[in-house]
Amino acid sequence: MRGALGGPRVLLRRLREVMAEPVSAQERLDKIVVLIAANMVAEVCSVYVLRVDSTLELYATEGLNKSAVHQTVLRSDEGLVGLVASEANPINLSDAQNHPAFSYRPETGEEIYHSFLGVPVLRAGNTLGVLVVQNRARRTYTEEEEEALQTTAMVLAETIASGELSAIAKPGAEPAARRPLHLTGLALNDGIALGHVVLHEPRVVITSFIADDVGKEVKRLESAVETMRSDLDVMLERGELSDGGEHRDVLEAYRMFAYDRGWVHRLEEAVATGLTAEAAVERVQSDTRARMLRATDPYLRERLHDLDELANRLMHHLLGKDYAPARDRLPENSILVARSMGPAALLDYDRKRLRGLVLEEGGPNSHVAIVARALGIAAIGKIDNATGVADPGDPIIVDGSTGDVHVRPSPDMEKAYVERVRLRARRQSQYLALRDKPCTTKDGQSIALMINAGLPVDLPHLEETGASGIGLFRTELQFMVAASFPRSAEQFSLYRAVLDAAGERPVTFRTLDIGGDKVLPFMRNLDEENPALGWRAIRLGLDRPGLLRSQIRALLRAAGGRDLNLMFPMIATVEEFDEARSLVERELTHLRRHGHKLPASVKVGTMVEVPSLLYQLDELLERVDFLSIGTNDLVQFFYAADRGNARVADRFDAISAPVLRALRVIVEKARAHDTPVTVCGELASRPLGALALVAIGYRALSLAPSAVGPVKAMLLALDAAKAAAFMIPLIEQPVGTVPIRDQLQKFAVEQGLQI
Ligand code: PEP
Ligand code: MG
Repeated sequence: MRGALGGPRVLLRRLREVMAEPVSAQERLDKIVVLIAANMVAEVCSVYVLRVDSTLELYATEGLNKSAVHQTVLRSDEGLVGLVASEANPINLSDAQNHPAFSYRPETGEEIYHSFLGVPVLRAGNTLGVLVVQNRARRTYTEEEEEALQTTAMVLAETIASGELSAIAKPGAEPAARRPLHLTGLALNDGIALGHVVLHEPRVVITSFIADDVGKEVKRLESAVETMRSDLDVMLERGELSDGGEHRDVLEAYRMFAYDRGWVHRLEEAVATGLTAEAAVERVQSDTRARMLRATDPYLRERLHDLDELANRLMHHLLGKDYAPARDRLPENSILVARSMGPAALLDYDRKRLRGLVLEEGGPNSHVAIVARALGIAAIGKIDNATGVADPGDPIIVDGSTGDVHVRPSPDMEKAYVERVRLRARRQSQYLALRDKPCTTKDGQSIALMINAGLPVDLPHLEETGASGIGLFRTELQFMVAASFPRSAEQFSLYRAVLDAAGERPVTFRTLDIGGDKVLPFMRNLDEENPALGWRAIRLGLDRPGLLRSQIRALLRAAGGRDLNLMFPMIATVEEFDEARSLVERELTHLRRHGHKLPASVKVGTMVEVPSLLYQLDELLERVDFLSIGTNDLVQFFYAADRGNARVADRFDAISAPVLRALRVIVEKARAHDTPVTVCGELASRPLGALALVAIGYRALSLAPSAVGPVKAMLLALDAAKAAAFMIPLIEQPVGTVPIRDQLQKFAVEQGLQI
């Protein structure tokens, strides 16, 4: 480095000493700027800190007027410093005053300095401040100098993030690093939770930033990169899934980046400046995140996500730690924050201590969302960079009714939410009072309200909600959360426990619905272009009947002496239904021949979730004992919009004329055939959705357990005939006028319904 006194390594070593000194925060900053200026032969070195009010305050300087410290405050987009902060990119100029963004503050006395190098102070991709060096002469700072200043900025980020500067800040102008944040995402499950952040994949806490021996750090980095590469090679060769259930193409992307010279080169450069290997990974990762947050191209964002993930792996290799989160040491009132998560991982946590879930990804019908609902925890998806802005232990509020997340909330915000939680608790007790009331509308229509279930944790909900049965038992959940394939005996004992818990109340079991987005951790992932449209559910069951037959046998045996309702997922043609039903007949014959106790009755039905069934309803209704409509999949295929893809999940509305017209045809035909029909998709679990369904003629709904109270309260206050008279003309009129949802909402308000 030209003219530098001892180069970046010496600077870092000296910085380490300063960081360890027992001095005040201000003194530490003052010493740091002197050190940097001397080391980089700069006449000026200044630190600007981003404040909660989004301005940048001069916190320390060597070279500018000292009286400007804590007096000069720039808008976050003002001048070159603002530009560095807002773009999160370095700016390196030999003649700063000619730059269009240059802005001059007389109190600083900076008019005599021409060259300017400013770098963002970044942590986990977030800008915390700006570090600047300036010189009188028109000089261009070398790449090495720029690199060294960025490395220094990283060390500085720790000082700012530690919160120690708050002590010298004016109230309302504290550093933004620990500021309250209000983020908005997609509500996945209702509920309000106040608690503290637990990162599902804990960020590695770096304790040592500065290398004792650079040569050693280079070697550590090389060997970690090597191990990571060979791990990825082995995983891909064996075609196995990693813990997170990643697909092959994701692993391929990781491998591509792992061998990418550019990425590895940036890591090597960072180590060469004197950082430890893990600090180098963190620096490169933080820069990457900063870019990721500003990228608008979804493809690019995805790739940067991959890089971010790869950096995590490398960090764990370096520190010899695995991915195991603190599941067994979960504090009270934990709110999990994760990039993405599978249903099994969520179930591993201690339910009693878990209050909420915040995901960067995740659509409303993804299986982790379904499990969050089964567990009754507030859940929100689509929160950008949640894992970057929330630190472990931070106070956090999750509002699953609106999709709002408050990280480090202000005391006022916290107070407001405590009050809302109290109000909700009061409402819950009102729902509880409705538990034993028959579900009959104001005009005397009886509506069967059942619950959806799939795990033993769901069974107590039957009693708690007063539901009239289980309308959908998702048998695949037992498989999805198990570490190994559940044997026939384990299936049998779950089914029997379910029937025991239900007693007189009916239960409808759905045979295995695996494939597509329902990935089994122990099953080889099929490399399909389009898994949602691929070899899944009943298709898999009919092609490999061994598995389906043994499940049917377990169901028939578990229901010995009792009534059994069973149905098939993803039936697309009547022929498929015939074939599946014949398997049931075969198993019945088999059990009869072997003298087993048979169920008192067996009713066989099908899910309606593939739109092709709409055009085979007459033939289908001749064959089935009942129908159950899975609106999650039906709407996904209807609108060709992936239910698990957060980007398109809220693009189409199920409460719309095309969907409701289709659903009306089904209910009318079923009624004409005298065939029972239930809706078990999530549409029925929202009061407005349930209102629409009852209005078009449905009289049986199967809901998420937490939805029973609100839906029942709405139905008890509803005049179903009035709703039908309002709704049916609405869906028959030409589409494209006022959205049906808005009109129905208005109707609900006029009728005094709680929606
Ligand atoms: C549905 O598709 O609506 C449904 C109830 O089934 P699942 O959500 O389990 O796919
Ligand atoms: Mg489905």
